[in-house]
Amino acid sequence: MTRLPILTMTSPEDSVASDSSVSAASEIPSETATAVRRLPRWLKRPLPQPGMAWTSGIISDLRLETVCESAKCPNRSECWSSKTATFMIGGNVCTRPCGFCAVPKGKTEALEIDEPERVAEAAARLGLRYVVITSVTRDDLSDGGAEHWFRTILAVRERTGAQIEVLTPDFRGNRDAVTRVIAAQPDVFNHNTETVPRLYHRVRRNADYQRTLDLLRQVREEAPHIPTKSGLMLGLGETLDELLEVLADLRSAGCSMLTLGQYLQPSAEHLPVERYLPPEEFDEIGETARKLGFSMVASGPFVRSSYHAGEMAEQVL
Ligand code: SF4
Repeated sequence: MTRLPILTMTSPEDSVASDSSVSAASEIPSETATAVRRLPRWLKRPLPQPGMAWTSGIISDLRLETVCESAKCPNRSECWSSKTATFMIGGNVCTRPCGFCAVPKGKTEALEIDEPERVAEAAARLGLRYVVITSVTRDDLSDGGAEHWFRTILAVRERTGAQIEVLTPDFRGNRDAVTRVIAAQPDVFNHNTETVPRLYHRVRRNADYQRTLDLLRQVREEAPHIPTKSGLMLGLGETLDELLEVLADLRSAGCSMLTLGQYLQPSAEHLPVERYLPPEEFDEIGETARKLGFSMVASGPFVRSSYHAGEMAEQVL
C-alpha cells in the first residue's frame, strides 16, 4: 500500500461560493455561510506559472480539446507549465446537464474522424509517457463514443508507446461499449463517482450511482489486470458517513485507486460549494481510505482525477 504525497497547492481561481449553508445532516464539522463566501487561505495560489504557452500552442495547433480548459481546472497553470494536459475527445459539448461541471452542454457535433491521430500527435509532441484521455458524455451516439475511444487509445499507443489512462463516462450502462474500451487495453481505467448517491439528482443528473459501480465492477471482471480508479469531489453537502459508504462500495467493486478533491464552483450558474474542507481533513479521509484497502490514494484540496496521474499510476503499474 503506497501513500501518494498529500497535495496541498493553492489556486488562482477566484470563484466565490454562494451563501448556501452546510447540510444539517453533515457529520463533517460545519462552517458558516459567511465562511464559504470567501476562499480559505489554503485555496489561494500564486500567480500563473510561466511555460504554459508551449503546451497551449500544441493543443491549439492540433485543434484539440482538454478538460483542463473546458472544466476550468484550477491546476492548469501548474500542469501545462509541466507540459502535461488531459485530452478530451468527442467534442467540447456534453449531453449531460451536471450541475458541477463547466464543460459546455447542448447540441453536439459529429465525431472528428482524425481526432485519434491528432491526440496521438499532441502526446508525441508533448513527450508524454503517461497519457490521460477523457471525453464528454455522448448519449446521442449509440455506442456512447466507445469506438472512438478504442481508436484513440490505439493511435496514442502506436504513436508514443506511452501508458494510457482512460477517464470514461458511464456509456449509459452499455456493457458492450465498456467492453470495447477494455479491448484497447488501457493501463488504468478511471470512472468517477463524483459524489454520494443522495446528491446524484442534483450534482450528476442523468447518471446513476449503481451504474457507476457496475461499470467499475465490469472492468475488474473482464480485465482483472487493469487497475480501476475513481474519484469524488468533496464539499457538495455529503456527510462523512455517506462518503465512507461510497468508499466501501468502491472497494467492493474492486476499485483500487482513489482521488478526493475539493469541489470548486466554476461559475455563479453552477452548484454552490457547501463547505471547504481543510487539508488536514483531506489527510484524515485519505488515511481512512487507505485503511479500507485502496492501494493508491490522492486526497487534497486540489486533487483532480488526472492530477499527477502518472505518478499515482507508477506506484501500481
Ligand atoms: S489536474 Fe488534470 S484536468 Fe487539471 S490541469 Fe492538470 S491535467 Fe488538466
